[in-house]
Amino acid sequence: MSDLKSSPRRSRKPRAIVVAPEPAGRARPRAAPKPVDRATLVEVFERFRAADPEPRGELEHVNPYTLLVAVVLSAQSTDAGVNKATRGLFAKADSPARMLALGEEAVREHLKTINFFNTKARNVVALSRRLVEEFGGEVPADVAVLETLPGVGRKTASVVVNVAFGIPRIAVDTHIFRVSNRIPLVVTASPLETQDALEAIVPDAFRRHAHHWLILHGRYVCKARRPECGRCLIADLCRYPEKTV
Ligand code: SF4
Repeated sequence: MSDLKSSPRRSRKPRAIVVAPEPAGRARPRAAPKPVDRATLVEVFERFRAADPEPRGELEHVNPYTLLVAVVLSAQSTDAGVNKATRGLFAKADSPARMLALGEEAVREHLKTINFFNTKARNVVALSRRLVEEFGGEVPADVAVLETLPGVGRKTASVVVNVAFGIPRIAVDTHIFRVSNRIPLVVTASPLETQDALEAIVPDAFRRHAHHWLILHGRYVCKARRPECGRCLIADLCRYPEKTV
């Protein structure tokens, strides 16, 4: 009897490899596309600029201080809702000293239609006090200093220095984070990381307005749940795997 024929190793049939099917509704995640090259990045911003050379934010304000307050109030609230609340507030208090004179109770009353109005009223009064006591009632044109004020984070500080003082910081909110990672201009994991990445790659010619172009695009075209790719002016440049054109 042959040893080979009787060998259990030779007689065993190779096992079939069975690949388990994907559970319904759980498709394998697609690999994220790579960020666009520099020429495409420039083309993206050239198209935004051609369509809207001087984009503007939608928060109503009359000076750097009221802009700062409006941006603080806009966290977790719509610009339209903030504008509705601040029209009456800024008519009475358009400077830190006047806001302190108005007092927290009255500020709270003006803000009661917006989210987290208790905390926001407290922060508005506290930041006004800091501005009066430490900065002569002026808004400092410095992101690092602004970030030390109550209720002010990097995003708020960056919007204020950009809009009020023309310093080309690119504040990143949820819209800009989404749009930047869809196109993608960058591939990042958080808004802060996105700001650093955008500020490193967006050419000087576009940096001042990049924040507004991207935020308005995200708010009105590249919407979170259903982007309107059919009317997107950069659809041919966008690599988002789920774009609808
Ligand atoms: S093509 Fe669609 S997904 Fe891409 S940027 Fe335009 S709206 Fe957004």
